Amino acid sequence: MTEQYQHKARKRFGQNFLHDAGVIDKILRSIRAKAEDRMLEIGPGQGALTEGLLSSGAQLDVVELDKDLVPILMQQFSAMPNFNLHQGDALKFDFTRLNAAPGSLRVVGNLPYNISTPLIFHLLQNAHLIRDMHFMLQKEVVERLAAGPGGGDWGRLSIMVQYHCRVEHLFNVGPGAFNPPPKVDSAIVRLVPHQTLPHPAKDHRVLERLVREAFNQRRKTLRNTLKALLTSDEIAEAGVDGSLRPEQLDLAAFVRLADTLTEKPVVG
Ligand code: SAM
Repeated sequence: MTEQYQHKARKRFGQNFLHDAGVIDKILRSIRAKAEDRMLEIGPGQGALTEGLLSSGAQLDVVELDKDLVPILMQQFSAMPNFNLHQGDALKFDFTRLNAAPGSLRVVGNLPYNISTPLIFHLLQNAHLIRDMHFMLQKEVVERLAAGPGGGDWGRLSIMVQYHCRVEHLFNVGPGAFNPPPKVDSAIVRLVPHQTLPHPAKDHRVLERLVREAFNQRRKTLRNTLKALLTSDEIAEAGVDGSLRPEQLDLAAFVRLADTLTEKPVVG
């Protein structure tokens, strides 16, 4: 029995290890790592994806939180000159440490589902460094990421991610591909940061605040949910119908509202 099989999956680290060779291969074929690529894998676990990424010749840094997995990963991969392991929390990892050229970093991960949303937001703070991201996430989260306006999936996550990235829902993965199997379905998503933002906001922190406020009560009209930030006249000035509900607005309209708020004179 190898050391690999002695590791007991830990729930608190969101450990569901991929074991289906067909699924692993399909993910690797979607990523298409090349020798000249600069890659970062979040949560390599026992190396299910790591092995294929390294064999492409790409320079690969991995960030793994679970100290007990470090010897397992080192035993498998430390002899490879293109492998570099960081033990620690990806949510606190400073991606600029990697010295990747702007627009070069390719990020990959079968993510622990409990940290997937904060991790995506953390990565988006360094969107200018990133060429693309391929993640395994809970299927519902991928549906929210890829959603368009008008439905229940369209919300803060869809808007803030689509502000920065093009989103592609690539394929779904059932629980049987993992050990232990998770209780939910999963999916692979590709996020590609825009080289030029299609709808740049004057201040993206204002956009974040406005979107959060708007979706706090998604059943109410914009006029109501945004009451503390914009008057009905200001909403109309932004070219938005205040009687709509937040889920009916597209990204461009949210940016117009945010810009109206940014330019609003401070009273008092
Ligand atoms: N990539 C492996 C695979 O596909 O089999 C493991 C995937 S498992 C769903 C998630 C991995 O992320 C685990 O190895 C877990 O220990 C690690 N992890 C959990 N929280 C983390 C964090 N905050 N930072 C870095 N890694 C983390």
